[in-house]
Amino acid sequence: GANRTKNVLILMSDTGGGHRASAEAIRDAFRLEFGDEYQVFVKDVWKEYTGWPLNDMERSYKFMVKHVQLWNLAFHSTSPRWIHSCYLAAMAAFYAKEVEAGLMEYKPDIIISVHPLMQHIPLWVLKWQGLQKKVIFVTVITDLNTCHRTWFNPGVNRCYCPSEEVAKRALLDGLEESQTRVFGLPIRPSFCHAVLSKDDLRVELEIDPALPAVLLMGGGEGMGPVKKTAKALGESLFNEELGKPIGQMIVICGRNKDLGSTLESIEWKIPVKIRGFETQMQKWMGACDCIITKAGPGTIAEALIKGLPIILNDYLPGQEKGNVPYVVDNGAGVFTRSPKETAKLVAEWFSTKTDELKRMSDNALKLAQPNAVFDIVKDIHELSCQQGPVPIRSFEFTSSFSSLI
Ligand code: UDP
Repeated sequence: GANRTKNVLILMSDTGGGHRASAEAIRDAFRLEFGDEYQVFVKDVWKEYTGWPLNDMERSYKFMVKHVQLWNLAFHSTSPRWIHSCYLAAMAAFYAKEVEAGLMEYKPDIIISVHPLMQHIPLWVLKWQGLQKKVIFVTVITDLNTCHRTWFNPGVNRCYCPSEEVAKRALLDGLEESQTRVFGLPIRPSFCHAVLSKDDLRVELEIDPALPAVLLMGGGEGMGPVKKTAKALGESLFNEELGKPIGQMIVICGRNKDLGSTLESIEWKIPVKIRGFETQMQKWMGACDCIITKAGPGTIAEALIKGLPIILNDYLPGQEKGNVPYVVDNGAGVFTRSPKETAKLVAEWFSTKTDELKRMSDNALKLAQPNAVFDIVKDIHELSCQQGPVPIRSFEFTSSFSSLI
C-alpha cells in the first residue's frame, strides 16, 4: 500500500502545566523530524468523552493540590496495584463505550500516553477491539523520580522513562527491560535550539542588560511560596549602603491571576517584571541567571537545559518529592522552604558567591537532556516502521464492549 500519513493520538490531561507541555513537545518534535508522515492529535479524552470523575480530573487535581494532605493521601492510598486496578476497571466498564468512541474517532496508529491514569483503560479498549497488535501504545513518563505506579502497565510497546530511577521502578512493576528506554523528559523543541544570546533576549524582553536576574515561578498554576519569596528578594537584592540594586527579579505567575495582581500592587526597590502565563518560557529562562520554583519536573528539566541553578522552594507530596534529590544531589541547586534563606542565597550568588553560581550552572548543563524529545519520537518512528506499512483500514467495530457483558 501507499505510505499514508499515520495518526498519532497523545492522551493528556490539564492537571498542572507539565502534561500538556510534554504532549506539545512530542507533537512539535514529530513535525520537525518527520513532517507530514505523521498527523498528531493532542487530546484530553477523559474530559471530552466521559463523565464524573474522569472528566473532572483537572478540577479534582486543583482542589487536592491546594489541600496538600488530601493529595498526599490520594497519591499513597492508590499506590497498591489492586486498589487502582479495581478502581480503573470499574471506570473502564462504566465508560467503555464513550472512551472507545473517543479514542477511535482519531483512527490512531499510535497512541502515546503522557498521563499516569491513561494506560489501563485505553489498553483495555484496544484489547476489546482486537487492536493491540495493530495500534502501537507507548507511555512517556513525565515524573523525574518518584512516580505513581499507575504509570506502569506491562501491556505497552514502550515505556519512556526520564531517569534511571524511574526505569528501575518500571522493572520492579513488571515491565521487561526491552520495553523501557531512558532518554530524559521531553521538553519543547524551542528549548533545545538556542536561538538568541542572553544579551539579545534581554533587549527583546526589555530587561536591564547588566544586572543579574533571578526568575521566580511556581509551575503552570503559580503555586508555592511565590509572594513571600518575591517580597524577601525585593529586600535582599537592594544594597542599602550603596542605595542601589544588586540584582533584578522576574516573576512568572502562570495562571494564578490573584498572585499577579497582588505583586503588581507592591512598590519595589529593585527592577521587577511580573508576568502571567508565558508561552515563550525558553526566552525568559535564557535571559536569567538562576531560578526559584516548586519542584515541577517540566520547569526543572527546562532550567537544566538553560544552565540555570535552581532553588527548589516546595514540592507536591508523592510524585514531585523525588525531584528534590535529583537536583540537589547532582549539584544543580538547593532546597529550602524559607523565603528568607532563598533571598539571602540569591543575594550571595549575585555578589560574593558568583563562583558557586557558575559551578551549579555547569552541573545543571551536565544533567540536561535537551534531545530527549527527539530520541523519543525517533524510537516511536522505528517501532512504527517495524510494524511495516499500514494497510488502509477502517475502524469498523465488530462488537462493542457493552455487547459482550
Ligand atoms: N509554564 C509555561 N508558562 C507559564 C508557566 C509555566 O509555559 O507561565 C510551563 C513551564 O515552562 C513548564 C510547565 O508549564 O513546562 C510546568 O510544568 P511543571 O512540571 O514544572 O509543573 P506543573 O505546573 O505541571 O505542576
